[in-house]
Amino acid sequence: MADQFLEQLLSKQRIFITTHIRPDGDAIGSQLSLGLFLESLGKEVVMINSDHIPDNLSWMPAVEKVKTFDKSLKQRELIDQADLIVVVDTNALDRIGDLAPVVKTSNAPKFLIDHHTNPETWFSETYARVSAASTAELIYELIASHNPDLITPTIATALYVGIVTDTGSFRYSAVVPELHRVVADILERGELSPTPIHVALYDNRSLSSLRLLSRALATITLKYEEQLGYMIIPQKLLRDLQADSDETDGFVNYALSIRTVKVALLFLETAKGTKVSFRSKGDAAVNTWAQSFGGGGHKNASGAFLRKSLESTISEVVESAPRFLDFAKPPTPSTHDTPGEDQLSEEDASYLSSLLGMKDD
Ligand code: 5GP
Ligand code: MN
Repeated sequence: MADQFLEQLLSKQRIFITTHIRPDGDAIGSQLSLGLFLESLGKEVVMINSDHIPDNLSWMPAVEKVKTFDKSLKQRELIDQADLIVVVDTNALDRIGDLAPVVKTSNAPKFLIDHHTNPETWFSETYARVSAASTAELIYELIASHNPDLITPTIATALYVGIVTDTGSFRYSAVVPELHRVVADILERGELSPTPIHVALYDNRSLSSLRLLSRALATITLKYEEQLGYMIIPQKLLRDLQADSDETDGFVNYALSIRTVKVALLFLETAKGTKVSFRSKGDAAVNTWAQSFGGGGHKNASGAFLRKSLESTISEVVESAPRFLDFAKPPTPSTHDTPGEDQLSEEDASYLSSLLGMKDD
């Protein structure tokens, strides 16, 4: 499958590569590693995304080759001149943001490299596997099946970033022994040391983002026998702390880290609606739940965007949880169980409403 896809890919000369809005490590790592590999084969590569590179990835070598779509004639021309469009790490037109109309109207063939379920049908060639923990792993397969000697330190770094970030640092259920073999090869070929990459990705926060985290942690609410935990970030909070919404990346994992919690949510209020991040442990699957709100993703990590207020999004999503998850009482109840724990205590309810009161209408 890799060979056939590669043959089609390498038959093209001017290649435009894009990825999803609010790009994460796998989006940028996949795009960049593919772009650099193709450049090393003499291809003319253009990489443009609807959204900017988040701060936590700005250190990546060669990341300056990935541009943000400014709607200029020059960028549109570059895209129009492409004889191939490759979309990585998303399979849905509405996830490529402002580039969607440009991609849709282009006459060039459109290829997909991805690991999400339910691909849309406008791609002419696809290299996809839902069981892959990251798209970067698929890019590795393509490069390795062509010529693994082309994995430079820069390409290896991009591949490693994609894999580390999309596996929650090798903790999600899609992590299998073969993935570690792939990672071993990437580390060896790129002569990489993992520590500086982890430091750059995760120990690189601003003080304001930690202040934001502390405020977000204070909103954590538990429901359904403490098996669902959620956090709330109203827009006003971001404004008050002069923080960017990118800085909330990873916050939801703190709610998931609570012992009793099986599923965690983060509600992020934006100007146009509310972004919901869904995360789960082990067998609890959140993708069908996210899909029911027009979103999608993976078993343990999904997302959706609702064009609704923060309050109605919270109540709709939290109330719908039992339709998608089994919240049977665990066999050994937590020692903190109290009657009526699904109800917020008076103190918590007034705290929550004071938080919600922080938002502007
Ligand atoms: P996050 O919560 O980190 O934004 O997203 C987690 C995962 O959910 C992403 O890797 C992506 O697969 C998926 N996802 C997030 N937001 C959306 C969305 O609005 N629509 C779809 N289809 N998938 C999403
Ligand atoms: Mn991915």
